[in-house]
Order: sequence, then C-alpha cells, then structure tokens
Amino acid sequence: MNKKSKYLFLGLILFFTVFTVIGEVSATCNIIVITDPSGTDPNGVAAGSMSFAKNMFQSSFLMSKNQQFAVLSGGEGNSSDRVKAIGECVAALQNGASPSDAASVASSFNGIRLVVGGPNIGAAIGGSFDAYVVEEQDDGTITITGYSTTSGGLAVLPAGHKGAIIHLRNSEGNPLSGTADSVRYQTAVNMAKMIRDGYPATRILGEAMREVATDSGEQYGGGGVNLVSRVSTGDMFTPTAMNDTGYPMSENYTKTCPTCGWSVGFPEAENYQVCPIDGSQLKTTNACDALINAITVTSNTTSVSTYGSDRAGLSSTTEAIVQASVNKYGYNPDKIAGSINKGIHNGLLMGVNYVEPKDISVKENSHAVGVYYEPLADGRTSPPWNLPINSFILTIIGTIQTAIGIVLVLLVVFRSRLLENFQQR
Ligand SMILES: [Zn+2]
Repeated sequence: MNKKSKYLFLGLILFFTVFTVIGEVSATCNIIVITDPSGTDPNGVAAGSMSFAKNMFQSSFLMSKNQQFAVLSGGEGNSSDRVKAIGECVAALQNGASPSDAASVASSFNGIRLVVGGPNIGAAIGGSFDAYVVEEQDDGTITITGYSTTSGGLAVLPAGHKGAIIHLRNSEGNPLSGTADSVRYQTAVNMAKMIRDGYPATRILGEAMREVATDSGEQYGGGGVNLVSRVSTGDMFTPTAMNDTGYPMSENYTKTCPTCGWSVGFPEAENYQVCPIDGSQLKTTNACDALINAITVTSNTTSVSTYGSDRAGLSSTTEAIVQASVNKYGYNPDKIAGSINKGIHNGLLMGVNYVEPKDISVKENSHAVGVYYEPLADGRTSPPWNLPINSFILTIIGTIQTAIGIVLVLLVVFRSRLLENFQQR
C-alpha cells in the first residue's frame, strides 16, 4: 500500500465512522438531467438530491470537479452501508467505470441507491429505486419509461442521448405520503417537455425539484450541481446540524438588494421590505430559483474568487457584493473595491481589512474577479477551531479530497458547529 492509498484508506475508515453515528440517512428524491450530452453547453448537465428525511448533507449530491461525474445517493438502508457504497462507487469511477458499472455497486448493499452520470458518459441508477428514465430517441421522440426495484436493479440513460432520470419515494412520516407515484410521473413528463423545448439542464433540475418539493413533500435540501461548469450549491440548503432537515425547497430563500448586494435569508427577511443601507426595493427569491441561479452560468454571471480568508459566509457575501457592483458599474477595480469597503463598513463583511483596487484582480473577458483579503490580526471575528477531531485527521481529510479529486465535504458537519459558535457571539 503506497502512501496515498494509505491516507485514502485511513480517511475512508474515518469517513465511515463519522457517518455511522449520523443514523438514518434517506435521500428520497434524486434527479439527473442531461440536455447536452456532448458537455459543450455550460448548463447542459445537472444533478441534485432532496428528501423529507434528515441529514441531507453534501454526501447525498457529490460531484467530482476533476472527472465531471456526479454521485447521488439515498435509500432506506443504514447510513454506513450507504457511505461504503459511495466509496466503492467513487473508486470505480476513478478507475474509469461506466455509470452503469458504478451505479451497480449499490446492488451489493441492502436498500441502497446510487445515481451516477455526467457529460459524455450518460447516466444510470442502481440498487433500490422507483424511477423514470426520460430519453430522447434517435428519431427525436422522447420516451418516459418506468423502472422499479427493491434491490439489485439498474436503469440506464445511454451516453449521447438527451434525457433525465428521476427517482422519488415518500419518506416515512411525510404528511404527503402516497403522492410519490403520481408526482414522479408528472415531474418526468414535465422534464420531458422542457427537454423538448430546449431548456438547459440546470433550469430543468430546479423546476423538477420545485414540483417534487411542493407536490410530494420530499422538500428538504440537499442541493444541486452543474457538472459541466463544476458549480455546486454547496451547503446553501443542507442542514446546519446533524439529525436535522435541510432548507424547505418550496419556500422563499432570500431577499437581495439589486443595488449594493446586501441580502438577508428567511425567516429574518420577513422584517425587511427595503434595503437598510440604500433604501432600494428588495428582490425576493424562492429556494428553487436560488438553486437555479447558483448553478446556472450566464453571460452576466461574474465568477468571484476570494483569497486570504476562509471565514464562513465571506465568499458568498463577497460574490453578491461584487456581482451587484459589476451590474451597476462594470468591471472597474476602483468601484469593486469601493463596494467591498462599503460592505465592510456596513458590517456585511466581517473579519477582514479594507481592500484597495490593487487587491482586486479583474479579468473582464472571462467575467472573473478575484478579491484578495487580509484577515484581521486580532482574531476577534474568527470562529475557534474547537473541533471534535485533531489536526492530524484534518490533514488526512484534506489528503483524501486531493487524492480522489472529489469534494467529499465531510467538514461541512463540523463547519456548521463553527458557524453556530460564531453566530452565538
Ligand atoms: Zn442596498
């Protein structure tokens, strides 16, 4: 066993151990949509997971940024089996397995499901599922085929074809139990229509999640990924603590100021009608539109990178401020620096020093802006690292992330504690 595999092995053992204590994990809606099988359209392949159940962390909608595949998971089996299945599935994909082979891994575990896919490789669902495969045939017709299996099954959307796979079951305790069969079918039909009408995969994913959340009650994020542009909703909608549900995707998510980028999440947003900084009318965005916005890349989207501080919330707030500044003033480093400094002054951005135009790197042609922060020295606004794991293990986790090139995002569980500590101050 070489050094890299040893770290990987140690890391996976740790990963299993941590997830074993989480208890029941059950993603009951998994969707993958492919509207451009060639991978050219930046929004042409998207995937996401949701559930009525708890613990819908990012492990339920993984994406490999290096190899451009998604692994969605769920099922009624126990969570350590689910994590083992994910580990084996990812390992198979790393070794060049097809989506069918990788999704078939789920069949060796009781009650576990895996959905695998990406640009150029098609998609497949394996294990325990109730699913429809939407597929554009060679003659241009779109077929919708149902598949059902309690274990050991496989359904495939072949490479080179536009289409989608949707799995949906009702979780135990969901007050809308009994709706899954009809909602699964209706959502598949509506996805087929949107594929026919030329909508991009990211939009179709968001609309499908909206329909599932509203009509079947399997509504807690979860989240979604854009496989072509390699963007994820990250922890936008995932639970902030273990044994908790994520954000209800049928509800409003934020109010945002179009002028300065100030934003506030619900339920606090109920208290604001206009921007407290400049009085502008706030724009309300519901959760599925927030998901679509987060993973859809448009010509107006500015890609913002934040350097110098990894404080929770800093990069997303910076992104909103920079986007608002660019919309208003264009790609002007002086104006962007001014907007950021106003944000720091107003307390939107905390724990960093004021920036100068030289700290702003602007690449107008690629719509990219880099912001170089200098963290405040006194550490007053930095959350403490009183994690239940030591730094040696953190290094191992970092190593697995590098080694297998996938954002396993184990740390999200711990980061939520940091965030809570910070918010309690
Ligand atoms: Zn404002």
